[in-house]
Amino acid sequence: MLSGRRAVLRLAAALGATVTVGALAADRFAAPAPATGAASTPQGASGTGRVGPAAGPRAHSARLSPSTYRLQPMTSYAPPAFRRALPPVRQRPFLSMSGVGRSMVLTFDDGPDPRYTPGILETLRHYDCRAMFFVCGEMAVDNQDLLREMAEDGHVVGNHSWSHPLIPKLRPSRIRAELGSTSEVIEKALGTAPLWYRAPYGAWNRLSFEIGAELGMEPLAWTVDTLDWTEPGTGTIVRRVLDGAAPGVVVLSHDAGGNRSQSVAALRRYLPELLDAGYHITVPRR
Ligand SMILES: [Zn+2]
Repeated sequence: MLSGRRAVLRLAAALGATVTVGALAADRFAAPAPATGAASTPQGASGTGRVGPAAGPRAHSARLSPSTYRLQPMTSYAPPAFRRALPPVRQRPFLSMSGVGRSMVLTFDDGPDPRYTPGILETLRHYDCRAMFFVCGEMAVDNQDLLREMAEDGHVVGNHSWSHPLIPKLRPSRIRAELGSTSEVIEKALGTAPLWYRAPYGAWNRLSFEIGAELGMEPLAWTVDTLDWTEPGTGTIVRRVLDGAAPGVVVLSHDAGGNRSQSVAALRRYLPELLDAGYHITVPRR
């Protein structure tokens, strides 16, 4: 009896600790820095806009309704270390990172693409930097070796939907399938499901936040859009990153979805410059 009660208390304490850690990590993300560089998004979809800090753990308690609790009785006990608290349902994505000094986050979307991703991985490895890759399921399923290479190098692999649709145009079941199937491919390849996701075109809606939270993911947008997908020239991409550089900035680039040789070449030029300027290239931890 007594030991059972102790186990329950220990579990409660562990869950409480997990939630606190999650909240602290989330607090690192805040409102965007002043708009820098090119700020518009592909196809003009500016679903993110300029918004304040992400909402707090508003809907978290709502999820633990009595009926939900009954479906997850304490008898289905798992060691606390292997439980992960779900993130709260957000109302907007994180746009930048704050409170971590002179740090920046580099993100690459739409891959992996065997033509361009290896070049980006090579440069990041050369400078011993970690980045985030928001992959599409339909690309990831055929390039699982690249997913594993990303993870082995310490990069964060995030979910960018299966087929890169405009999420707000989809029925709820399709949104669930797009995000769920992509998380499955990532989990199959890496052994762990992704903790971050990004809506294609930065076009989010309420359902995508709810489903993302159900799948255990936090939404991350960006601060500086390099608009590299328009193939503006390597020099222009480099200049947009360097002009937009500031503490907490999240940079958006692409390693797939078209000819991305300029994006690959640009990274080779701006990454050493960012490091020379004293920036720490990092990834968020949850
Ligand atoms: Zn994309």
